[in-house]
Amino acid sequence: GRAVLLAGVAADIFAELQGLDVVPNTYFTTQRRVDALRSLQEKAATGSFIPASEAEKHGTVGAVARDAQGHLAAATSTGGFNNKPDGRVGDSPIIGAGTYARDGVCAVSCTGQGEIFIRRVAAYDLAARIHYAGQALEDAAKTLVFETLASHAIGAGLVALGAQGNPVAPYNTLGMYRGWITTEGQLVVATHKELHPMGPA
Ligand code: ASP
Repeated sequence: GRAVLLAGVAADIFAELQGLDVVPNTYFTTQRRVDALRSLQEKAATGSFIPASEAEKHGTVGAVARDAQGHLAAATSTGGFNNKPDGRVGDSPIIGAGTYARDGVCAVSCTGQGEIFIRRVAAYDLAARIHYAGQALEDAAKTLVFETLASHAIGAGLVALGAQGNPVAPYNTLGMYRGWITTEGQLVVATHKELHPMGPA
């Protein structure tokens, strides 16, 4: 292709030309996010020391998958970190920062303050640990979340699959909604530490 990444008005026009459903931005506005934005703006304006909750700060959805041929894919959908400056581009659409997949290595989708993920090239860092340093997915993911990213004092999490489809979902916050399904149809969901097997889907 002639472009890897399109942004802004040109991206909207491209999507429309491709026949995608296009909706006004207000379609994505929910009262919960408006309230969270107000709350963050108030805290910023009053210099409040009450920390913003993770739920106020963001609401990103990540997905990773491995198909029957062993191909890996990753996707991240986000409204972006709350109360961001105009024109700000986060890590989610940047391949290697918030999202990355490479056959035979891993697929990963990240969440947390995007600026740090961009600076650390976090998603690619995970793949590099596995590919070049020979780290196991689980160890690489733990190092990234609990050492590299935690050193910036941000809430961070990711969902990832290894080359064989083994899932990991580490996070350094109180909880992170997550779920996965195996080829056998075994479905598992979790919010905090405990896993909830849901039986075959
Ligand atoms: N990473 C996203 C961003 O910085 C936010 C998030 O994951 O919640 O835009």
